Amino acid sequence: MAKEDNDRKGKHEKEKADAGQFAEKAGKGSSKTTFSIDKVKDFPDWYDRALEVGAIVDVRYPVKGMNVWMPYGYAALNTMMSMMQEIMNRTGHKETYFPMLIPESIFGKERDFLKGFKGEAFVVTKAGTSDLAEKLYVRPTSETVIYETVRLWIRSSADLPLKLYQIVNMFRHETKQTRPMLRLREVAKFKEAHTFHATAEEAEAQMKEAIDAYKEFFDRLLIPYIIVRTPSWDTFAGAVYNIDFISVIPDGKAIELASVINLGQKFAKAFNLTYQTGENSKEYVHQTCYGISERELGVLIAVHGDNDGLILPPVIAPIHVVIVPIMKKGKEDALRKRAGEIRDELSKKGFKAEVDTREKGAGDKFYEWEAKGVPIRIEFGPRELETGNVVLYRRDKQMKVNVAQSNLAGQISEALEDISAVLKERADAYLKARIFHFKTSAELMEKYTEREGIVGLPWCSDEKCGRKLEEEIGIPTIGFVPDKKLNEACASCGEKGHTVEMFFGRTY
Ligand SMILES: [Zn+2]
Repeated sequence: MAKEDNDRKGKHEKEKADAGQFAEKAGKGSSKTTFSIDKVKDFPDWYDRALEVGAIVDVRYPVKGMNVWMPYGYAALNTMMSMMQEIMNRTGHKETYFPMLIPESIFGKERDFLKGFKGEAFVVTKAGTSDLAEKLYVRPTSETVIYETVRLWIRSSADLPLKLYQIVNMFRHETKQTRPMLRLREVAKFKEAHTFHATAEEAEAQMKEAIDAYKEFFDRLLIPYIIVRTPSWDTFAGAVYNIDFISVIPDGKAIELASVINLGQKFAKAFNLTYQTGENSKEYVHQTCYGISERELGVLIAVHGDNDGLILPPVIAPIHVVIVPIMKKGKEDALRKRAGEIRDELSKKGFKAEVDTREKGAGDKFYEWEAKGVPIRIEFGPRELETGNVVLYRRDKQMKVNVAQSNLAGQISEALEDISAVLKERADAYLKARIFHFKTSAELMEKYTEREGIVGLPWCSDEKCGRKLEEEIGIPTIGFVPDKKLNEACASCGEKGHTVEMFFGRTY
């Protein structure tokens, strides 16, 4: 799973918790009142600043790779996870919860898995001052703890298929540079699904259902993606094969949005997960698993934001409409009253509306809501109290229109729909512009630079050719498009007739 990563020079974070530094940083409160960072040219700074001003996470917590979720960001994350829950429940998955600490005897049952995760897992060895009798692994993912238990639940084919999921935090000791949501040591919300089937065909059908479920999820979030199959030499520890949803970050790096994994019977054999097929015969179950996390919110933010901060798609925005009355001496009560009426009316129609009457200049308020990516802002002053109009500001187009107060809900509804359509179109164009296709590695070397995005070459499906291409162009593989045959010759051996497109790129 893990691929090489190019850390930004000179930006390595401190490994050690440092409370003094925390206090110092915390005291530094930002006084900057403009955002304006070029998202593409300076993505890392843009991202950090967007999360800070957008009140998504607080990165000052003094443990590397562990962030504090702020209420506004957490509301968006919870909305996203509820959407996933709804999809899981609708497709027959049952929610469950398994413990976070996993005894070493269970964690080490599947050897490839152990090899894949041992270096990344945190391990609890003590309780107070005394040593534990057995080491406890803090879940980096829950395959082992779930399978150890589920084998007690499955008796016959009547118990199958069994489709479980849980939404939990998980921990990995990332040694690379961490980044909020995108690469963490504590993932606050990890949705992992695990399914158990009687036959390989049923597990394969489940792969398709899971892929469709994830397509729906990312489509609703307006996150653009490609779907690839990971080459055999880079497959998830303990898996037969995995399908990845891949997107691209504005700095040109690829990012895995989700992985859908066919585990075959490897884990079943390691964990003795069987079901009765006859009086004296048993069969190992076939398994799949697939996961997503808060990383998706990070990608959504990276894809949709602009040089002025966040732009949150309405489907996930904690606030759809912020109502900002422009205060004037003597008119405060009337303006407040009207703002409250508008909010109540919009709330009744199902919109998430909020009024901002804080003692603060209107300009500062506009800047703040702009950076937080609230899709629509309603402004009005004393004059509008008389005309019966208000100003509707759209974050996506940074455009103001005068609208009649009388049909506000209808206009908000239309505007939100249009915002989603605009963001979808932008996101699709965004990804398309970051995917390059070449026929040979020579052509690629001449015309492509890594900062632009990811790149595809025709490949004959031979591992040797794949590895050779990786070496030649110096960029790791991401995965290939499994069901689309190309008419091109393999960029490595030149063989014609049955090539597919293999993508290469730096990854998060
Ligand atoms: Zn080849």
